[in-house]
Amino acid sequence: MIADIEKARKLAVNGQRMNRRYALNSARISLVHTGICLIYFVGDYFGGPQFGTVQFVALFAGIWLVNLVYLALVLTGWTESRKDPVLAVPMTLWLTTSFLVTAYFVDSFRVSLVMLFFVAMLLASFRKGFWVLAGLSLYAIVGYATVVAVAISDRSMELQWSSEILQWFIFTVTCLGFVLTGTLINRLRTRLSDKNEQLAGALEQVREMAIRDELTGLFNRRHVMEILEQQQALAESGDYSFSICYLDLDHFKPINDRFGHGVGDQVLTRFAHIARGSLREADYIGRLGGEEFILMLPDTDHSEAWRVAERLRQTLEETDFSDLHEELRVTVSAGVAEYQAREDLDAVMARADLCLYQAKENGRNRVVYEATPDSKDQALQA
Ligand code: GH3
Ligand code: MG
Ligand code: MG
Repeated sequence: MIADIEKARKLAVNGQRMNRRYALNSARISLVHTGICLIYFVGDYFGGPQFGTVQFVALFAGIWLVNLVYLALVLTGWTESRKDPVLAVPMTLWLTTSFLVTAYFVDSFRVSLVMLFFVAMLLASFRKGFWVLAGLSLYAIVGYATVVAVAISDRSMELQWSSEILQWFIFTVTCLGFVLTGTLINRLRTRLSDKNEQLAGALEQVREMAIRDELTGLFNRRHVMEILEQQQALAESGDYSFSICYLDLDHFKPINDRFGHGVGDQVLTRFAHIARGSLREADYIGRLGGEEFILMLPDTDHSEAWRVAERLRQTLEETDFSDLHEELRVTVSAGVAEYQAREDLDAVMARADLCLYQAKENGRNRVVYEATPDSKDQALQA
């Protein structure tokens, strides 16, 4: 179930993957542009007689240098913390500039290169709204007019004013259409990403509810069993061991009976808090139910586990509960067992339970670990 929630969460939102996809799409647009220009160059439509292979290669080396720097910045996550992590505006301006510069060199197919702007604009509309799209269009419209003006002034004999200006005019009108469509796409996308965020939040909540105990916030029994299975798999795959420790608050029923169920609940949450504070970073704690808890101590043998549990037992014993009731004292008993290679989880849990039983039998408020002769002495001294 947890795995299903994880899977759903991955589907719901992955900002970085979207950013990477955006950057790669920008590069793809530039690749198409480069391909088209190459065809024009090979067909002898690109530049005049003084524009040779060296100039062509230098021009595209410059274009791709910037593209590659851009890809590196976005793909490595370097821009991730920025408000616009895909650098949509600078990159669209850069693509547009490269289309316009090359359009200058291709008189007969100029409009075909300038039209690539619409593809770049469509991509930008996934990130940007009306004003930015309008600004980008204005840049392209003015840029295209400049290219036409410069080309006409450089090669006035060969070019037809009227058809160049007509094409520019059609481009300008099409731009308006694209600004409006792009704005709609952008609105849809924003709404979708809001919903995605809500969904991710809800999934996170469901996940927490699925693995945590409501009263104490500790892991619940089901999640404890999952962690134990992971620990067992780790132990079976290498030179690794872990210990578990059953904890049971002493005389908890009388606490409930004497001070009320509300105080009992507060004792449970306070114990959970103390236990969390006394554990090491890698340790896990769960509530099995009622006033019964379990510690899972990765990479820990039973004597080290005993020390961890003993420290918790002492801390609880020294904790002042007088704000709940001046006569309230809380102690805990614990049983520790270390996982033995190739045994069932039930077996190690039964051994820990037996030790807990011994701790209760021997007077409570103590930690017992498995009855090797010297360990028992140590345990009983506690
Ligand atoms: P021992 O020292 O042998 O462990 O005795 P005990 O009284 O702690 O053990 P027992 O199992 O008899 O009592 C556990 C009590 O815990 C009984 C039950 O009413 C109470 N309990 C279980 N869940 C909760 C809870 O969520 N909140 C509160 N306040 N009490 C609970
Ligand atoms: Mg109990
Ligand atoms: Mg108890």
